[in-house]
Amino acid sequence: MCIFCDIIAGKIPGEIIYRNEWVAAFRDINPQAPTHILIVPLKHIASLDRLGPADQPLIAEMVAAANELAHREGIAEKGYRVAVNCGEWGGQVVPHLHLHLLGGRPLSGSIG
Ligand code: AMP
Repeated sequence: MCIFCDIIAGKIPGEIIYRNEWVAAFRDINPQAPTHILIVPLKHIASLDRLGPADQPLIAEMVAAANELAHREGIAEKGYRVAVNCGEWGGQVVPHLHLHLLGGRPLSGSIG
């Protein structure tokens, strides 16, 4: 049982705004910026730490989706942030690998 797998499968509401053969994207339920989109692999991978060598091309697909969505959202020119939380101390809450795409306002320059 994984909430992001359920969203991808259409079992629970989640506005899928992007999908291809490898990845999907939907808006964060608790947005931290005017644009806050989560980009996830269709395949369940628990975290960045669980990304095996065969799955590494998925990261390129996820970043490409983030880039395309940033342009679609109109946040590319001003700039945006792509972030991955990994594991407990990395602040990861949902155990399905995801990129956060954040933009639409100035974001703090600090990490952590
Ligand atoms: P993380 O802390 O990196 O694991 O981020 C998980 C993100 O998932 C948080 O920003 C949550 O607001 C978001 N989230 C949790 N449940 C849902 C949901 N059902 N639909 C959309 N976003 C969600």
